Amino acid sequence: MRLVRSCDAVVIGGGIAGVSAAYALSARGADVVILEREDSLTAHSTGRSAAQYIETYGGPVNQALTVASRDFLLGDADGLADAALLEPRRVLWVAAAGCLDDLEHLRREMAALTPRLAIVDAAGAMTHCPVLDPDWVAGGLLEEGSYDIDVAGLHQAFLRGARRHGTTVVRSSAVHALERRGSRWEVRTAAGSFVAPVVVNAAGAWADEVARGAGVAPLGLMALRRTIFTFAAPSGHPAEDVWCWPLVADIADGFYFKPEGPSQLLGSPADETRDVPCDARPTELDVARGIDAVNRATTLGVRAVRSVWAGLRTFAPDRHPVVGLDETAEGFVWCAGQGGTGIQTSPAIGEVVASIVCGTPPPAGPAGLVQNLSPRRLRRLA
Ligand SMILES: Cc1cc2nc3c(=O)[nH]c(=O)nc-3n(C[C@H](O)[C@H](O)[C@H](O)COP(=O)(O)OP(=O)(O)OC[C@H]3O[C@@H](n4cnc5c(N)ncnc54)[C@H](O)[C@@H]3O)c2cc1C
Repeated sequence: MRLVRSCDAVVIGGGIAGVSAAYALSARGADVVILEREDSLTAHSTGRSAAQYIETYGGPVNQALTVASRDFLLGDADGLADAALLEPRRVLWVAAAGCLDDLEHLRREMAALTPRLAIVDAAGAMTHCPVLDPDWVAGGLLEEGSYDIDVAGLHQAFLRGARRHGTTVVRSSAVHALERRGSRWEVRTAAGSFVAPVVVNAAGAWADEVARGAGVAPLGLMALRRTIFTFAAPSGHPAEDVWCWPLVADIADGFYFKPEGPSQLLGSPADETRDVPCDARPTELDVARGIDAVNRATTLGVRAVRSVWAGLRTFAPDRHPVVGLDETAEGFVWCAGQGGTGIQTSPAIGEVVASIVCGTPPPAGPAGLVQNLSPRRLRRLA
């Protein structure tokens, strides 16, 4: 096999996890190569998200990583982005009768982390989103500190920063085998071999597969499919009013929807269907379920969709990201399991990877944050 390059770290996967890790590593002087199987770096989960930043989402570990990412995102990625990466988009968690206690529970759980939360009654919820059905909505929880994320802009910013620090990106280069030889990994691809003391496994839904290829035991990652559909904004509401609606999310996880551009909305059944690592496709049934859930809670009366897609949200068994050295394989660093928060947590996760590999201080956050991300916890469970 032709040797293409030796470097300090090979990052496998060019999605948001891979480019954020490459950016943070290269900013500390590491010579990094990103290997991506596809021609496009955002062909999979990164290019299929709902593009939202929600501090209350994903449980305590993801919440801490999200808060630790906020300044970087608000600062437009150290000034690397061409335009603002975050635009305010409030979140309105809504509850049907019978689920009101869940709103109060979330408010109490989150009050210390995000004080900008307010319980509203049904009428209050409808002032923020007038298409909620008064026969369905019983109350809401309004979250002020949430945003739309420019995912493509963020990915570009990481990539631009990484390239400025000398990172090389090799597309269409699927990694099919890894072997530890002495103090270095040999990473084999169709485009040739790369050698480095460190590999960062940022292969998304394929991270367990990449581990197997390296002779490292998989962690039991689960790829869960999620469906998105877009539909026309309702007539009778000025476009500028619709654009100001919050992301409306059912507290019972039955659906969410949000404005997407001036004339349409994006919706989801908030599905989590077990899948294999693949180019995920939406099913008609999941789209129909999503439309039905949105129509039951609103007066939108959605009948036709403009576009549909699906993507994989990949979770570890405990639903926390897995970021850290594998104690069974020298120089093998996991950066996987980001589930439904991989965009909004990417700045902090990239910093954690760099702190582990380069021995620099981890990002600010609660004590024990980095230990909570380590693959060691899952090896103990196995
Ligand atoms: C419908 C949906 C909505 C979401 N909404 C949000 C949201 O609002 N906010 C948020 O923060 N997150 C959201 N997420 C989650 C977020 O999109 C993911 O957590 C994130 O994109 C994961 O990034 P990644 O780089 O790990 O994965 P990916 O983007 O999938 O990148 C992994 C890359 O690895 C490559 N690869 C795999 N195997 C190999 C190999 N052997 N060799 C070379 N390359 C390989 C793949 O081709 C792929 O490009 C959502 C996800 C979905 C699906």
